[in-house]
Amino acid sequence: MVAARDWQRTKAEAGYACITWPKEWGGGGGASWQSVIFGQEESAFQTPGNPFQIGLGMCVPTVMTVGNQADKERFVRPAVRGEEIWCQLFSEPSGGSDVAAARTRAVKDGDDWVINGQKVWTSGAHYSDFGLLLARTDPDVPKHKGLTMFWIDMKAPGVEVRPIHQMSGASNFNEVYFTDLRIKDSQRVGEVGAGWRTSLVTLMNERLAIGGGGGAGHRSVLKLARDIATLAGPAAKDAGLREKIAEWFVQAEGLKYTRYRTLTALSRGQTPGPESSIGKVVSAALMQDMANTALELEDQFGIISDPKQAPLAGAFQNALMNAPGMRIAGGTDEILRNIIAERVLGLPQDVRLDKDVAFKDVPTGR
Ligand SMILES: Cc1cc2nc3c(=O)[nH]c(=O)nc-3n(C[C@H](O)[C@H](O)[C@H](O)COP(=O)(O)OP(=O)(O)OC[C@H]3O[C@@H](n4cnc5c(N)ncnc54)[C@H](O)[C@@H]3O)c2cc1C
Repeated sequence: MVAARDWQRTKAEAGYACITWPKEWGGGGGASWQSVIFGQEESAFQTPGNPFQIGLGMCVPTVMTVGNQADKERFVRPAVRGEEIWCQLFSEPSGGSDVAAARTRAVKDGDDWVINGQKVWTSGAHYSDFGLLLARTDPDVPKHKGLTMFWIDMKAPGVEVRPIHQMSGASNFNEVYFTDLRIKDSQRVGEVGAGWRTSLVTLMNERLAIGGGGGAGHRSVLKLARDIATLAGPAAKDAGLREKIAEWFVQAEGLKYTRYRTLTALSRGQTPGPESSIGKVVSAALMQDMANTALELEDQFGIISDPKQAPLAGAFQNALMNAPGMRIAGGTDEILRNIIAERVLGLPQDVRLDKDVAFKDVPTGR
């Protein structure tokens, strides 16, 4: 964590943290293409982990877009410099894909709001200073209309963070419980009842961030296949495997040109639209497929994840553990396909029976 903070501060001081953000907010005042090129160059080096990604990629941009002037002045600079870390408190046991089904309640009490409820899968909540919280402020209107966004202090009384243990052995995300958490009305981000619109600002940033690709690819599997001997010669001679690698090559090229389209849109000052969902839906499945095949090729060596001993420094062992999560985080495959079908291809909408019903009257099955 110390190394990550140092690296972030060093980048901020040189104008390389948040390259596209205005200089007055601690950013680099540069263009999107400069930010993309810096990201590509940085990824070629071993750098400390990035606990700032959720804050700088999603939460702080939401505060910058929708928040009040005092919040911008208070939060943006320290986040850019890596002094404060944020988490995103959207998903709940009753609503992950359906973010608008959030049940965590915020009830007005004088100039305060009192929060009760539970969030889940909150990445980094255990080391975060602040969280962006979506809460239900009016259960008497349809679900999308009764939500409001707030920022909260993660160390305040009434916030309890419980880590979730993952199959990789790590605990990167958490359950977060709120019991009579009292916050000021000035902690509201956007208008009362406008939480759904505000959350869309966060979610579009999230899909762009997750759809970035990277990591070991089909060329690494090809190298592995050339090195591994089977009774019939190098594994790379196997026709079935060659076909798979060719398919991954085609998908990787498609992703590359889709990313170029996004880059072109950004460089023209346009906001990438729902088509950016394609990057994530393809790259997460591609990563999982390649990792499965690579570990089959590595045979018993596939169980070694120590980077000093594992083939290809354990790149595919990590990918195998992370890929299922990537197919869920920031929108599952099915949800992203719905978005592509409805908003890119213009196909008929999914059936949404609860759209015009007051949230309190939506059947819960209980
Ligand atoms: C690694 C990781 C990190 C995460 N970090 C955070 C975080 O920091 N903050 C946060 O708030 N959340 C976070 N999440 C939660 C994530 O956003 C949700 O898990 C995700 O949105 C899916 O919600 P769910 O798990 O409740 O699944 P559900 O919504 O219950 O979905 C269950 C299944 O039903 C399918 N399904 C649901 N609705 C439809 C539909 N309309 N049409 C077709 N199929 C459908 C889904 O595709 C899925 O297969 C994280 C998740 C992961 C895996």
